[in-house]
Amino acid sequence: MRTLRKGDSGADVELLQTGLRRATGVPQVPDGQFGSNTKETILRWQQAQALAVDGIVGPRTWETLLPFLRGYTLHEYQSDDTFLALAVQYDSTPGAIAAANPEPNQLRPGEQIVIPYNRLVVPTDIRWCSSLLELVLDGIAKRFPFVEISSIGRSVLGHPIWQASIGTGPVRVGYNAAHHANEWITTPVLMKFLEQYASGVAHGGNVGGVEYERLFRHYTLDIVPMVNPDAVDLVTGALGKETAAYRMCKEIADGFPDIPFPEGWKANIEGVDLNLQYPAGWEKARQLKYARGFNRPAPRDYVGPAPLSAPESAAMHQRALQADYQLILAYHTQGKLIYWKYNDYNPAGSAELARRMQSVSSYLPAETPDYSSSAGYKDWFIQQYNRPGYTIEAGQGKNPLPLKQFDQIYNDNFGILLLGMIGLDGEADSLGALP
Ligand SMILES: [Zn+2]
Repeated sequence: MRTLRKGDSGADVELLQTGLRRATGVPQVPDGQFGSNTKETILRWQQAQALAVDGIVGPRTWETLLPFLRGYTLHEYQSDDTFLALAVQYDSTPGAIAAANPEPNQLRPGEQIVIPYNRLVVPTDIRWCSSLLELVLDGIAKRFPFVEISSIGRSVLGHPIWQASIGTGPVRVGYNAAHHANEWITTPVLMKFLEQYASGVAHGGNVGGVEYERLFRHYTLDIVPMVNPDAVDLVTGALGKETAAYRMCKEIADGFPDIPFPEGWKANIEGVDLNLQYPAGWEKARQLKYARGFNRPAPRDYVGPAPLSAPESAAMHQRALQADYQLILAYHTQGKLIYWKYNDYNPAGSAELARRMQSVSSYLPAETPDYSSSAGYKDWFIQQYNRPGYTIEAGQGKNPLPLKQFDQIYNDNFGILLLGMIGLDGEADSLGALP
C-alpha cells in the first residue's frame, strides 16, 4: 500500500477513508482527497491504536485498518469459545463464523480462526484499484473457503492477475472484466456477483427458482475481475504521479492530445490495447487502427507489436486454452449492448441466448461494428471454439462511468451473469421469475 499523507488523492485515499469509516463508525463520504478532515480522523485513530501520532498513513497504520477492508479479523481460538459468543464479541454472526470455519470439530485451542464482520465486503461506492481487489478477494476467500483464488499471470508492473473460481460442476464458464482500464466499474460488478453467489451457497437460498447450491454443483465459474490492474491504478489515481510508469504514460498520452488523461486511458500500462491483442483478425485490426493514427503505444487502440505481446492478454489466452470454457462473458462499458458475433461464426445457441439476455436486461444484441470487429477476447474465443462468447457493454455514458450508475448496471446485469451459466443447458426458463 502506498504511504498516504495530507494532499494526496486517488482511489487508495478512498480506500483509506472507507477503512476509517468502517473502523471508527464516523460517517465520512469517501471523496478521495486526503484533506484536513481525513488527517484529523487519522490522528484520533492513531492515538486510539497507540501508534505514532503523525497523521501519515504508513505500513503500521494501514495494518490496523486492513481488517475492516478485508471484512474479517483473526481470533485465537479457546476451547470454551462458542460461535454465538464470538459473534457478539466481534460484530459478526454465528452463521458467518460457521461458513468461514466449516470444520468446527477440528478447531484447536490457540489456532487463529477467521471472524467475518457482519457486513458485505465488496464496496460499490468507491473507485477500485489493484490493492482493493486483493483485499476483497482475500476477504471473500476467508469468509467462503470454497472460493478458490489464484493468479493466472502477472501484469507489466508485476501485479498478479487474479482469478476467483467458484463451483465444482463439470460445465466451466469464464467471466472477465476491465480489459480496458477506464472501464473498471465492471470489476465491482463481477465482484459483487461473486459475493452474492458465494453467500448464497454458504447460507442457502435461491434466485429465480434456482438454488445457488445447484449452480455450484453444475458449473465451475472462473472470474478474472481485473485483467488490466496497472492501468486501472493509473486511471483511478492509485498510481502516484511521481512514479516512472505514470510519467511514461503521460508522455505517451501527450502524443494524443484529444484523449483526456488519465480518464481516457484504456490500454495497458505500456500503451497496448489488451482487447486488440488476440489472434483473431489481428492484422485486420492493425490495418484499421493504424489508418486512424494508432500506430504506436497509445492510450487506446494500439494493437501492439504482435498478438499476445502484452503479458495480460497472454495470460488470459493461456488460461482460456487451459480451462476449455463452454462460454465466456467479457465485460466492458458502455452502450447497453450485447456483442455476440465474430465474422460468420454462429455458435449453436448463441443468438438465442443473446435474446434471453436481452429479455432480462433490456440490453440490445448487436452486430460488432466493422472498425472494432477483430482481435478481441470474445472474437478469438468464438473463432477458437465456435462456442457462445459475449462482449457485454454495460451502462451508458462517457467512460469512466460514474459510480452512481453502479446499482443500475448491477441490476441490469445480474440476469445476464446467471444466464451465462444456466442459459447453456435449457434451464433458463426459470429466469422468468427473476425480480
Ligand atoms: Zn472496452
